[in-house]
Amino acid sequence: MQGADRSVTIAIDELPDNVVIYKFEKNDFIFVDLNKNVEKTENISKKQLIGKKLTEVFPGVKEFGLFDVLLQVHEDGKARDLDTRLYKDEKLSGWRYNSVRKLPNGELIVFYKDMTRCKQMEEELYYLDKETVLERKKVQLLAQALEQTDDMVLITDANGIIEYVNDSVIEKTKYEREELIGNKTNIFKSGKHTQEFYKNLWETILAGKNYHNILIDKTKDDRLYYADLKITPLFDENRNIQNFVSTSTDITSRIEMEKELKKLATIDSLTEIYNRYKIDDAINIEIQRYKRYKEPFCILMFDIDHFKVVNDTYGHDIGDRVLKALSRLVLKHIRKTDIFGRWGGEEFVVILENTTKEKAVVIAEKIRKRVEAYTIDKKYKITISIGVAEYQEPQTREELVKKADDALYRAKQNGRNQVVAA
Ligand code: GH3
Ligand code: MG
Ligand code: MG
Repeated sequence: MQGADRSVTIAIDELPDNVVIYKFEKNDFIFVDLNKNVEKTENISKKQLIGKKLTEVFPGVKEFGLFDVLLQVHEDGKARDLDTRLYKDEKLSGWRYNSVRKLPNGELIVFYKDMTRCKQMEEELYYLDKETVLERKKVQLLAQALEQTDDMVLITDANGIIEYVNDSVIEKTKYEREELIGNKTNIFKSGKHTQEFYKNLWETILAGKNYHNILIDKTKDDRLYYADLKITPLFDENRNIQNFVSTSTDITSRIEMEKELKKLATIDSLTEIYNRYKIDDAINIEIQRYKRYKEPFCILMFDIDHFKVVNDTYGHDIGDRVLKALSRLVLKHIRKTDIFGRWGGEEFVVILENTTKEKAVVIAEKIRKRVEAYTIDKKYKITISIGVAEYQEPQTREELVKKADDALYRAKQNGRNQVVAA
């Protein structure tokens, strides 16, 4: 028996684990042997332990389940393993893994090692994993959303270098993803905006503010499009800008429609010169300008003489042709800054900016003569009567128009084909 003990003793000092050998005696386990690791781990010398009862040295041993396991292994000889908790100041301070075996001589050998770090890692891994899974899911969902949205989404670093574009950007701009990543956003520059425009954009976002505007960008194949653009800066934990996220929608068709509507709202469909609304608007603007700069301006109001006869003789369609031809003719002989529109029927208005009454009469006379001299479609001749009115403070628009209309009426009364100034 002594020999067997010796051989075990020699062996246990070479084991990396803590090893203790117990023998069962009077319902307790007596320390028979232990290796150097145990002395280190428990900070106690072999001498202090050999021959001592386990329950005396470690009174808590029964609570941790190890004592019961030792008893079971002692009774049925089957090897058992168990994890035990370590407490320090009533707080969990670590974990041990214990492995209990019965030796041929009836003694019990216990291998144990510290598992605290392993348990910690296990726990960290568990939480890390949970977070990673959530994070991954979130990222997946975001990525999906980004790819499925019709909006163009583009992410740059703080210097405007493109780091990410979604499929809509590729589709719209016709660039390959590789051509965009690493490039600056000015690759989309259309040349339709001033430097000031882009300066304002950059100043806004570099100040950490959101930017929202409509701008014209250019595709790789040189097509221009209107983009409703929003740029949002992203910050790191120190409030430094880390990225810019830009989302934009192509609103070209909307803008074109708006333009069309605007045109419809200001242009007369038959003659394609301005309509009455635009003329009203333009007179208002001139009045405002007058108030600021005291720059004189006049309006001419003219009406075709005996136009009914044209309609009655040649038909309404020819009447229309005459209205169109007259519009083109007048347009040709006024200045670019003059505003010419159809007031209604066969009445027209010209706004002459920066023009006195005397000058306006000269211009009106020139127009009257041109019309008189012209033969529409080489067949039809017409004349016009013109009323001239210069704006005077504090006239309203209506009063100014009335004055011109009155002058026109007098021109008609006086025999037509003439200019009368109010
Ligand atoms: P005057 O002005 O010299 O007094 O005689 P007028 O024959 O021109 O008389 P008035 O101004 O009262 O008549 C306007 C005519 O213009 C009546 C209408 O048939 C015609 N007219 C108005 N709008 C249109 C239009 O869009 N197309 C055509 N073809 N005729 C129009
Ligand atoms: Mg008329
Ligand atoms: Mg008339």
